[in-house]
Amino acid sequence: MHIAKNDIVEIIAGNDRGKRGKVLKVMPKARRVVVEGANFIHRHTKPRRQGDQGGIIEREAPVHASNVMLVCTKCNKGVRIRTKILADKSKARSCTQCGEMIERR
Ligand SMILES: [Zn+2]
Repeated sequence: MHIAKNDIVEIIAGNDRGKRGKVLKVMPKARRVVVEGANFIHRHTKPRRQGDQGGIIEREAPVHASNVMLVCTKCNKGVRIRTKILADKSKARSCTQCGEMIERR
């Protein structure tokens, strides 16, 4: 996955297009990510126990990784990234627009 937890990404498709948020969760198998503040779904819950509130809960639903772009702080927009292999064989990501390295947080 080119997206990691705590990355700042921009949503590029759907109702939340243009929104930015932090990646809260990465699901590599499903190639999906949960982005803070984006793709809200409403869950209607019934009170199950005495004293339970029930009602409508809003929470973020996973978005497909192809629908988000990593935000380059230098370009200040969602960009495509290039993966570089460093001398120590670790991977680094750089912006295809300006070449800026985008660190994992
Ligand atoms: Zn850039």
